[in-house]
Amino acid sequence: MGYWVIMAVIDEVGVRRRLRIMLGSDALVEEYITQNGYRIDVLKIQALRTEHEKPKPLHIEESGPGETAADDPIFSVFLKCPSCYLTSIPSHDLKAKSLQVLTDRFGMPYYRGTGRFKVVDYNLHSVTICPQCLYASPDKRDFIARDPAHAREVPARLHQGELAAILAGADDRATWILNQGLDVQRDLMARDRNPQSGIAAYELAIMRAQIEFDRNVPFSAFKMGGYTLKQATIALVNGLDPLPWYQKAMQHYLTCFERSNAPGFQYDGQILYLVIALGLRLGNLDVSGTYLGVLDRTKARVELANIDAQVQQTFDRWYAQAREIWADRENPDLFASPKA
Ligand SMILES: [Zn+2]
Repeated sequence: MGYWVIMAVIDEVGVRRRLRIMLGSDALVEEYITQNGYRIDVLKIQALRTEHEKPKPLHIEESGPGETAADDPIFSVFLKCPSCYLTSIPSHDLKAKSLQVLTDRFGMPYYRGTGRFKVVDYNLHSVTICPQCLYASPDKRDFIARDPAHAREVPARLHQGELAAILAGADDRATWILNQGLDVQRDLMARDRNPQSGIAAYELAIMRAQIEFDRNVPFSAFKMGGYTLKQATIALVNGLDPLPWYQKAMQHYLTCFERSNAPGFQYDGQILYLVIALGLRLGNLDVSGTYLGVLDRTKARVELANIDAQVQQTFDRWYAQAREIWADRENPDLFASPKA
């Protein structure tokens, strides 16, 4: 079981190093080990940090005096890391119908108020991160959940080989976070992430998907494209230049298409649409024109293939959207943020 070999690598030195990441100071690491030994427990880590921390200013508006818990559009559940088995990892979800969700030309969500709930940019909260090994995903199905009805665990979707490889990359992710000047507990595990830590959270998810891609897991490049579009959206909403992320997203989708990483004509339609739209957004009409030609040839193949009616319908919808955005390419408001 190669998997247990890797687990055993997290020895006292490793525990000390991870505690240093999570606690942020050597003095706190010593205090933690004196109290709890070499066993990592997120709740105890958080308690120790809270004990030693000055209250920090919130990144979003402080709640007004009359506000109740019902006004918070976000609720939390606790999940288990499938990679290192750490438990009690907070994962934030949006309450149904609490905010209005508008989407842009890339299908990215923008959150607007409906009156009763506080407005938050859920894109900053959507990635769940394991603070011990920095395994990250915006999809809860990538974590181990509890099934309350049957009192048993719901396993994560990834296979053991991928999970072991992702665990082995923990130090790379920790180094990357430190190099960004970010602190795991303060910036990434905080209930309210700022734009920089929101973008970093998606970068950790991209690092996970990159390991999946290196092991030929289907849809890994497709996910990297989607995560990168989320980063672009966070940048855009917060007044940063989104173009570097749009550029990266296009590369991921091109790789995805060339390597058939997302098999199925419905995904071909979606990926080609996104490449064409991103080309227009980046002012690269050559790329958009080229892939419109590829889309036309794909359409001819779809018509000959005698495929499932639903797949056909989905492909046709992306095809129509691609034609529409291309026809509208001179419109200066083509990529304006969606309005209610
Ligand atoms: Zn973990």
